[in-house]
Amino acid sequence: MRVACLSGGVGGAKLACGLQDVLAPGELTVIGNVGDDVEVLGLHVAPDLDSVLYALAGLNDEERGWGRAGETWRALEAARHWGGEGWFMLGDLDLGLHLVRTQALRTGDPLSAVTARLAEAAGLATLVLPATDDPLRTSVVTPGGTFPFQEWFVARRHEDEVDAMVFAGADAARPAPGVLEAIRDADALVVAPSNPYTSIHPILAVDGLRETVVARRERTVAVSPLVGGRAVKGPLDRMLMRMSGGTSPAHVARCYEGLIGALVIDRADAPAESDVPLVVTDTLMTDRDAGRRLAEVVLEAVA
Ligand code: GDP
Repeated sequence: MRVACLSGGVGGAKLACGLQDVLAPGELTVIGNVGDDVEVLGLHVAPDLDSVLYALAGLNDEERGWGRAGETWRALEAARHWGGEGWFMLGDLDLGLHLVRTQALRTGDPLSAVTARLAEAAGLATLVLPATDDPLRTSVVTPGGTFPFQEWFVARRHEDEVDAMVFAGADAARPAPGVLEAIRDADALVVAPSNPYTSIHPILAVDGLRETVVARRERTVAVSPLVGGRAVKGPLDRMLMRMSGGTSPAHVARCYEGLIGALVIDRADAPAESDVPLVVTDTLMTDRDAGRRLAEVVLEAVA
């Protein structure tokens, strides 16, 4: 069974891991968000792609919830000591990846080729594709001004309320090689429990991507990133409240209007009404087994 999964960072990576566990090697393609990418200390950091890579390779820190297990922070301490920017948390192990990626990008390799090499180096059979190789950068419109995504998320601790998202470069961004094919050829297209506004919408903003997903609507299932109307982590519940007027499954489904054939929601959110069919299960991925169980339910929903 061929499966494509649209994913942001941490929430998406957990389900991607579950999907990888229940599928045969090579059956999964993860299409990741690059709207959060940022240049720090001269390095190209792709937080969402890296969360996916680390989780799929079993290198992620499950307790902290992001970054690599066994991480240390000496390089960042030194950078701060020498007056360098220190607002974005880059661990020593993480920096190793950013160095390799940045060097490859500077020689002219596209991000998709670099990501494929990193996945290969991690021993993954799963394909990890950036949604686009072109520069697409998310900004967040708030009452206090418009901020580049990571400035809002990390430096300002996503405390500002959000009125809208802007995806600069989306008009010119073409899908990375293999992205549209993976969606078209998939027996199931899964929208991971990622933040729709910050993680999934920038993927859909890439030229031709939304249309390709619409054409596969009957085979597309999304997993709600809310449990009991609350985000497991991060600002999504507040964003949904302000931009969509509520945090029910119907409000989540509206973020994917015309795109999905079913929405998987948590038991804590049922009973609920929605325009799309709902599948009710436990969606909190507390460990790898829980991710695997959720992946099974998700794939059954489109079987
Ligand atoms: P980011 O790019 O690192 O912020 O991560 P994502 O956009 O992929 O995921 C963020 C969303 O994941 C948040 O809205 C969380 O509510 C959701 N999330 C995290 N863990 C879980 C989980 O175990 N189950 C569900 N249903 N949602 C989760």
